[in-house]
Amino acid sequence: ADPQFEYPVSPDCVDWSVLYPELCGEAKTMPRPVEYADIGCGFGGLLVKLGERFPDKISIGVEIREKVASYVDQRIKALRNENKGRFQNISVVRTNAMKCIANFFVKGSLEKLFFCFADPHFKTKNHRRRIINRNSISEFAYVLKEGGFLYVVTDVKELHDWQVEHLNAHPLFEKLDDDAEKADPCWDLMFNSSEEANKVERNEGSKFGAIYRRISLAEAV
Ligand code: SAM
Repeated sequence: ADPQFEYPVSPDCVDWSVLYPELCGEAKTMPRPVEYADIGCGFGGLLVKLGERFPDKISIGVEIREKVASYVDQRIKALRNENKGRFQNISVVRTNAMKCIANFFVKGSLEKLFFCFADPHFKTKNHRRRIINRNSISEFAYVLKEGGFLYVVTDVKELHDWQVEHLNAHPLFEKLDDDAEKADPCWDLMFNSSEEANKVERNEGSKFGAIYRRISLAEAV
């Protein structure tokens, strides 16, 4: 069953000062928009790494499971307490990214979207639940900046092939070539930072990844 929860009517209605108190300060407004989003962030390993590696960028984790989102929230608060002035640039929201992404982020505002080790939903009747699917890709294209990037990595070859097939078919995404993927500063991070990435590593599993650029309508025609 799809869990029911409250979500903002539009990005204007998000109380960002709860998520990034130090950045918002007394004005209670964000100095600049969130730019990196880790969708289905799980326990937050990649999110924490993004915060450390890109201190000038604001990153967010998006997670549907209440207990997991709450764990990440506590993890971030503990990191902020232990490291004064640091980790103010990361936060987490609990929501269904397949339904509510545009309720949180303004059109064309995100620079990077990460999808690491998404649930594979093996049964054919459940393929529509895959986080990357025909409909959701258009929503993700909507919130991504032109020239922004979408990252996918998984240990399930069948899911990788599905994600690549659907992203290749979408007019607003263009796959980077192998050299450009490997040169991207987030290529290694997405393969090695999250809890799921570490689990696959411990089990000596394979990992498959790809990076797509969000192209403009003019480039698409
Ligand atoms: N990305 C993390 C990692 O690499 O460790 C977690 C991977 S875990 C297999 C997939 C995560 O996506 C789960 O935590 C799940 O709750 C979350 N998730 C699944 N569907 C989601 C949705 N529609 N919106 C937000 N999160 C979702």
